[in-house]
Amino acid sequence: MDETHDSKLKSWIEVNENSDFPIQNIPFGVYSPKGGGDLHVATAIGDYVIDLAYLDDAGFFIDTDIEETEVFHEPTLNAFMALGQKAWKEARLTISRLLREDNTSFKDNDELRKIALIPMNDAEMEMPVDIGDYTDFYSSREHATNVGTMFRGPDAALMPNWLHLPVGYHGRASSVVLSGTDIVRPKGQTKAPDAEKPSFGDCNRMDFELEMGVLIGSGNILSEPIAVDEAKDHVFGFTLVNDWSARDIQTWEYIPLGPFLAKNFATSISPWIITMEALEPFKCKSPEQNPKPFDYLNNKKDCNYDINLEIHLKAENMSESHIISKTNYNYLYWNMAQQIAHHTVTGCNLRTGDLLASGTISGPEKDNRGSMLELSWNGKEPISLPNGEKRTFLEDGDIVTLKGWCKGKGYRIGFGDCKGTILPSA
Ligand code: MN
Repeated sequence: MDETHDSKLKSWIEVNENSDFPIQNIPFGVYSPKGGGDLHVATAIGDYVIDLAYLDDAGFFIDTDIEETEVFHEPTLNAFMALGQKAWKEARLTISRLLREDNTSFKDNDELRKIALIPMNDAEMEMPVDIGDYTDFYSSREHATNVGTMFRGPDAALMPNWLHLPVGYHGRASSVVLSGTDIVRPKGQTKAPDAEKPSFGDCNRMDFELEMGVLIGSGNILSEPIAVDEAKDHVFGFTLVNDWSARDIQTWEYIPLGPFLAKNFATSISPWIITMEALEPFKCKSPEQNPKPFDYLNNKKDCNYDINLEIHLKAENMSESHIISKTNYNYLYWNMAQQIAHHTVTGCNLRTGDLLASGTISGPEKDNRGSMLELSWNGKEPISLPNGEKRTFLEDGDIVTLKGWCKGKGYRIGFGDCKGTILPSA
């Protein structure tokens, strides 16, 4: 850790104690001015967005790997992410220093403040990354056990491979959307267990999945796997992920090749990417693994993180959101270094901008479950909302918001919101 992690750091920009974006965070995203204008790379502090393209034009990134590049003028983070870890750290350090209360070079430059310091309400957040490939894992033991118990019974809940490898599938990148994008209820083929024939129509078991996404910064060359203890250096940062799921479509289609249309209509991500540097103080041990994994999966460095997670649901006629689940990223059995090592062990190449989602994150208790499928136990145990309504799966007009944050000493490293509203099928 370095000076950017000091919990005593204060900025000349006012930051509320409960803000997701104190000076210790320094997330990266892409915004455009609400009145119209170019997309630029930005960071967030308190209730402000800071345009990094203008800070670069002002010469603040001289003598870093960002100098001579135009990465902050790009409409996505990909070019910046491709520069690698040294550039990411230099950017973080430069921004941290510029925002400190005793630094006047940006604070006292009125012309620059006028264009580069933008109230969040005047900024339109944009898709931060051009995502090339999207992989979804299934790494929460509690989630896999819950789902397995519902479909196969408690004795065969985990498949024989589950404790030996991080199970995953290749998802769809084209439909990864930014938080705030409406989610249209999909249509598809379904078959009720007692029905003789399948039918075609609206999905009736619309669900969310609370996940965390890893965004790859620097990739690997084809046929050169990433070693488990080097995996973290390839990661640019984390984002919240809602892997929307059509459970009735999934049940009918998933054997033998796994989820297909049940997952390909939309996946939401939060707009700010929280870097590995920002998360460093919240690193923690992974759950103990038994049996011991193969050497290629056996990481010696801790690579798990203490990140509080919440799912909020707001039905159409509710005035405010209601928390339906609280869990933590640190419940994951397989950590992201193991996921990356496994993904590439065949020689498969990851590229800048690839998204690797954790899989639904559930914890040991009922109110730690990360999907409606589990919260309502496959529709058998409806949950109650404060307005008296019950839910087994999502209804049209429901708004689902995921939140995440790490609790620091006097500050929190937040992720912002990952939000989506269910619209009736087209
Ligand atoms: Mn998923």
